[in-house]
Amino acid sequence: MGPTVAIIGAGFAGLCMAIRLREAGIRSFTVFERGPGVGGTWRDNTYPGAGCDIPSHLYSFSFERYTSWTRRYPGQPEILAYLEMCADKYGVRPHVRLNTEVTAAVYDESLGRWRVRTSAGEELFDVVVSAVGQLSRPRLPDIPGMGDFRGASFHSARWDHSTDLTGRRVAVIGSGSSAAQLIPPVAEAAAHLDVFQRTPNWVLPKPDGVFAPAARTALHRVPFLQRGYREWFYRYTEGVLHPALSGGWSAGPVRERALAHLRARVPDPELRAKLTPDHPVGCRRIVIDSGFYPALMRPDVDVVTEPIVRVAPGGVETTGGLREADVIVYATGFDATGFLSPVEVVGRGGRRLAEEWRDGAEAYLGIAVPRFPNLFLLYGPNTNLGHTSIIFMIECQVRYVMGCLPYLVERGPMEVAPAAMDAWRRRLAEAMGSMVWQAGCTSWYKDAAGRITTNWPGPTTLYRRLTRAPRPSAFRFAR
Ligand SMILES: Cc1cc2nc3c(=O)[nH]c(=O)nc-3n(C[C@H](O)[C@H](O)[C@H](O)COP(=O)(O)OP(=O)(O)OC[C@H]3O[C@@H](n4cnc5c(N)ncnc54)[C@H](O)[C@@H]3O)c2cc1C
Repeated sequence: MGPTVAIIGAGFAGLCMAIRLREAGIRSFTVFERGPGVGGTWRDNTYPGAGCDIPSHLYSFSFERYTSWTRRYPGQPEILAYLEMCADKYGVRPHVRLNTEVTAAVYDESLGRWRVRTSAGEELFDVVVSAVGQLSRPRLPDIPGMGDFRGASFHSARWDHSTDLTGRRVAVIGSGSSAAQLIPPVAEAAAHLDVFQRTPNWVLPKPDGVFAPAARTALHRVPFLQRGYREWFYRYTEGVLHPALSGGWSAGPVRERALAHLRARVPDPELRAKLTPDHPVGCRRIVIDSGFYPALMRPDVDVVTEPIVRVAPGGVETTGGLREADVIVYATGFDATGFLSPVEVVGRGGRRLAEEWRDGAEAYLGIAVPRFPNLFLLYGPNTNLGHTSIIFMIECQVRYVMGCLPYLVERGPMEVAPAAMDAWRRRLAEAMGSMVWQAGCTSWYKDAAGRITTNWPGPTTLYRRLTRAPRPSAFRFAR
């Protein structure tokens, strides 16, 4: 019998952890999920046009090479169906407790175990694995008068499907990745759309397309072809996109590509000026979408750049006056830098994680935190990416946690040693220095103090090497 494991969250990360535990013959785990289904991001983001911006042959598990993707960049329903299929195929469902939010995890030193408190009660576990995601808590802006709005209003990740947009005046606040995806279908339905943009983003076209029957059959039948297809994308993202973010050779070409896309799609010079970023490409998350610019060119769509003053009962008021609206969509992103902190996590010596992280979240390899024994984080601090598939990182982390289990079974609760954490901190700071994210732009990559606590600053090949197996010398053990 293996250790008992509490997994918090049933998105890609929580499911991956659960699958690997089962494969290792460990059945003594529970996946707590506050939502009504598995899928995480892909359960929550049902806005029109929702989809991935990394091709799904890469944005999927390496061990479950789904062969039936209908298109290169599938939409949310197809990705959610893939995750549900994985939960079934790998026998994870019986371990998942839906509609059960973890509110606290308190380390009981006398037992060397975690007291996990949920909306349904308290249970003891040897190990806690956080898989709460970085983009799972929608962030609403703090605009005066939001509560006074007469019409329907909602966040993009909480889409209100009962609100019909046909023939309505719609305001979309925000112009990042989610906004870029939902704006084309919303513009199509609405009588008029105002897009409120604070900062323009760099936009690259998305080379999407439905697979022709022959290509689909070939990708389905020839495993070698599918592996090669995935590998090709991976090498492209690592070899071309990553250097663009780290001041490498491709920064210029990627910028040129984005500018050429802007010039080709937005002939109106006034609108083009509004949409031209003044920060280096990659400083903020690059938007990958081919439908965004054409939608903004429509005569019934306006890009509003005057600052918003307040939300009025009848619309959105800017310094330029009132823009009437029947519906407001907040495409304003997520609280990415909060990580696990909304859960009350208390480690050894009564240390509170929220307090430990008051100057910014940090974790050794993004996975382990000193003084929090047998607590492991998936998609934790400094493991987000701006260029390739997060699933790659999640799989590295899950393999690492699986590698820790035999140690903690044999030698008792393990926690990362301060010296290893210090070395990690130094390494991270050094690598971060060359990244474009620091280059004087605002972005969700940064916490309130301006520290980049979300992103991994190196190539993912390096991360894979660093997380290949735990080094016992980096940890302290109870025995
Ligand atoms: C619209 C959108 C598009 C994206 N597209 C891409 C892409 O193309 N490529 C890419 O690499 N990444 C993309 N991402 C990032 C995406 O979040 C990750 O790729 C991946 O889905 C993260 O999986 P996860 O399991 O770590 O987190 P999530 O999918 O966010 O799942 C976390 C789960 O934890 C649950 N949870 C949180 N707190 C608690 C609690 N206290 N108790 C119980 N349950 C809890 C949540 O309900 C949720 O189900 C996108 C994100 C969004 C929002």
